[in-house]
Amino acid sequence: MIRLEISLDEAAFGTTKDIQVDTAVVCTTCSGEGAAPGTSAQTCDMCRGRGEVSQVTRSFLGQVMTSRPCPQCQGFGTVVPTPCPECAGDGRVRSRRTLTVKIPAGVDNGTRIQLAGEGEVGPGGGPAGDLYVEIHETPHETFQRRGDDLHCTVTIPMTAGALGTKVLLQTLDGVEEVDIRPGTQSGQSIPLHGRGVTHLRGNGRGDLIVHVEVQTPGKLDAEQERLLRSWPSCAARSGPRGSSSRGSRGCSRG
Ligand SMILES: [Zn+2]
Ligand SMILES: [Zn+2]
Repeated sequence: MIRLEISLDEAAFGTTKDIQVDTAVVCTTCSGEGAAPGTSAQTCDMCRGRGEVSQVTRSFLGQVMTSRPCPQCQGFGTVVPTPCPECAGDGRVRSRRTLTVKIPAGVDNGTRIQLAGEGEVGPGGGPAGDLYVEIHETPHETFQRRGDDLHCTVTIPMTAGALGTKVLLQTLDGVEEVDIRPGTQSGQSIPLHGRGVTHLRGNGRGDLIVHVEVQTPGKLDAEQERLLRSWPSCAARSGPRGSSSRGSRGCSRG
């Protein structure tokens, strides 16, 4: 199995990647026969091509016949008098190849892609097995992926939360304007539908959820303090403060 590192963009939209694989492939000098060019494998004289030898032993129960793999041909039934110099009679050589892997849109961490017949060739030129490529997604600096949805956090000043604002956000599809309505509370989220990762099975894409963090100023100058104090509703009120969906923390990477 080969581990393949891809970016979030590549996982979201799909891509093709060239990978280097180091596997046993059929020896081209002997075409997997194991015999030197111009010679050929011959029927094993010890087992006469059967691949196993039998032995009759006497015991108190009578004659017992036991079979075991032929020691001269290791059960192949043929022997190679002059082994191929390239593969020493194994029929396969190790080779570094470049494979182009098509990665479908929507893959996630741990997704395995099967490449039929691209694995190791068996001894004596037997059929090749399958090769598996396991996807690993590099964490994105802004977006956190949960399923096919992406999450991020934008931080805006208190005044922008109160008055509303527009934030430019670099999404997977380019720069988009996120409209933050007046009166937005810290912890509220704005979904951008269809801006997430493509669904691996089925149609469409996940969403991009923009979590808004409203920042209360830490330090005020005299004028700002005077203005805020003159604001009639600034006196502290008790009670619940609207929707506070704080359950989805953790995406404030940027
Ligand atoms: Zn060979
Ligand atoms: Zn034999």
